[in-house]
Amino acid sequence: MSHILFEIKGKVAIVTGSTTGLGQGQALGLAEAGVNIVGVDYVENSDETRKLVEATGAKYHYIKADLSSTAPIDNIIKETVDTFGQLDILVNNAGIIRREDSINFTEKDWDDVMNVNVKAVFFLAQAAARQFIKQGTGGKIVNNASMLSFQGGIRVPSYTASKSGVLGLTRILANEFGQHGINVNAIAPGYMATNNTEALRADKKRNAEILDRIPANRWGTPADLKGPVMFLASSASDYINGFTIAVDGGWLSR
Ligand code: NAD
Repeated sequence: MSHILFEIKGKVAIVTGSTTGLGQGQALGLAEAGVNIVGVDYVENSDETRKLVEATGAKYHYIKADLSSTAPIDNIIKETVDTFGQLDILVNNAGIIRREDSINFTEKDWDDVMNVNVKAVFFLAQAAARQFIKQGTGGKIVNNASMLSFQGGIRVPSYTASKSGVLGLTRILANEFGQHGINVNAIAPGYMATNNTEALRADKKRNAEILDRIPANRWGTPADLKGPVMFLASSASDYINGFTIAVDGGWLSR
């Protein structure tokens, strides 16, 4: 039996980018704790995540929406409330990356990344907070940051700017929403084995360099985010506001 502070059974979470990778891992972690999931992604179907979530006994409602624009945001909140009657948790996970030397980086690769990784994160958080305030329930917002919220990286200028932006947004939103019982925090995953890092893992030299400085001596997995997201979605973290927690196998400690 779980400790009452960690009890989130029956709550409702929106998880963006829920079809694969870290979004799927976080959706599954919440579902295993009894949370009904609204998955948001821009791919045609989200059947793999649906199967995994439904196998836990939780419900999965999929909304196909492209978060490179803010247009779908109001409907995402409305459809969530129409389907499950409430919203308690927002996991702002969807994100993209473009790799190119800064000297050659295009405006399109800048805008595409900033739109999904920062703009959608802000406006979804705003829309979720409005719903939490309307309900009078408070709520939990968990953003996905990165090691590049703390470090510069290389050949990923819009990604670094966006994830550094997520860290700042997490702080300002915590400052403004805390008075409404809304916690805004972020998870900064380290080097996790997903589609997002396929190119890095395929590069033998970079792969060896990365592994060499991870104290845990392995790439992270989507399942490594289950515990942190459950914690940040539960009352156990009620007095944590505006903080970005590294889940990185110790990478930042080196
Ligand atoms: P991924 O590429 O495997 O999955 C991203 C998901 O987001 C996919 O389901 C994709 O379809 C969805 N998505 C992308 N653009 C979208 C859009 N415009 N509208 C709706 N959905 C969209 O990536 P991942 O590794 O699982 O990363 C998830 C998050 O974690 C991202 O924000 C990423 O930046 C962050 N992150 C990943 C790592 C890592 O090592 N994998 C490390 C740090 C941070």
